Amino acid sequence: MYYLGVDLGGTKILTALADEEGNLLERSNVETEAAKGREVIIKNILHSIDNVLDNSGVNRSEIAKIGIGSPGPLNSKTGVIYETANLPWKNVPLTDIIQEKTGLPANLENDANAAARGEKWFGAGRDVDHMIYVTVSTGIGGGIIIDRSILQGKEGAGGEIGHMIINPGGPTCGCGNSGCMEAMASGTAIARMGREALAEDKNGIIAEMSGSDPEKIDAILIANAAKKGDQKAQEIYNTAGYYLGIGMANLINIFNTEKIVFGGGVMKDHDLLNDSFMESLQENALQTSLKQVEICNAELKGDVGVQGAVAVAMEDILGK
Ligand SMILES: [Zn+2]
Repeated sequence: MYYLGVDLGGTKILTALADEEGNLLERSNVETEAAKGREVIIKNILHSIDNVLDNSGVNRSEIAKIGIGSPGPLNSKTGVIYETANLPWKNVPLTDIIQEKTGLPANLENDANAAARGEKWFGAGRDVDHMIYVTVSTGIGGGIIIDRSILQGKEGAGGEIGHMIINPGGPTCGCGNSGCMEAMASGTAIARMGREALAEDKNGIIAEMSGSDPEKIDAILIANAAKKGDQKAQEIYNTAGYYLGIGMANLINIFNTEKIVFGGGVMKDHDLLNDSFMESLQENALQTSLKQVEICNAELKGDVGVQGAVAVAMEDILGK
């Protein structure tokens, strides 16, 4: 039998066919066309599924299950997407729709938990039973794997590690709360601190690199300024590393995890975060649990979403 993974994003739908070992055999990459509305998005998902079946020559009857990874919030138990920032829909029973249109069983998971499952079964976590996947990009997302199972909670919304509050009264997060890990250590947080630095110092390297335009400041610019020796930019990365360390120490203390797997664009500059992050872990994690954790990089890179969707499709044979 074969499995299909559908990675539904705001701009692209990446669909892949996998064998029983999870190897990706055929892929299709189509535009989501989110602005055109619900029916067009669904049509494009179905089109991408047809693409991989046609190109691979695999028959629909040979597909055991479809796994779908989507931005949330959503209910992975009922397969209903409540709402997403980048897709214009509300309360869409996506699992039912895909099952009805394809005649195949399907499963839905939020994209961060799907990615965590992808890394667990096919990436950096394949040799461990307990793992936390963390992606640091414009936001901070992730998933918690305990005893080879994803922590889902009642409706599958569990594991929102980016919204752990680590600095009460701190900067406002996209979720509306203050001082979430995402508001303190994400690419967006680094850019915010960069703009604050620019407002304080109009003559530094950050001002020079951005042409004193706050709009041009992002995490990459601050990383490059830090590499050029700008002290303020280095402090910003130290601050982000410090707060990321607090958040991860909390998770280590609670879950006694074996591995922390880091992905996402900001972690490409993890050498900038690393010293302050490790110091913060040493300071804040329980030593017994800290000694048992290995910290490593994600392995799946650009495929993590679709490989995660394949893991969702394969959950019956992989463990949940
Ligand atoms: Zn938040």
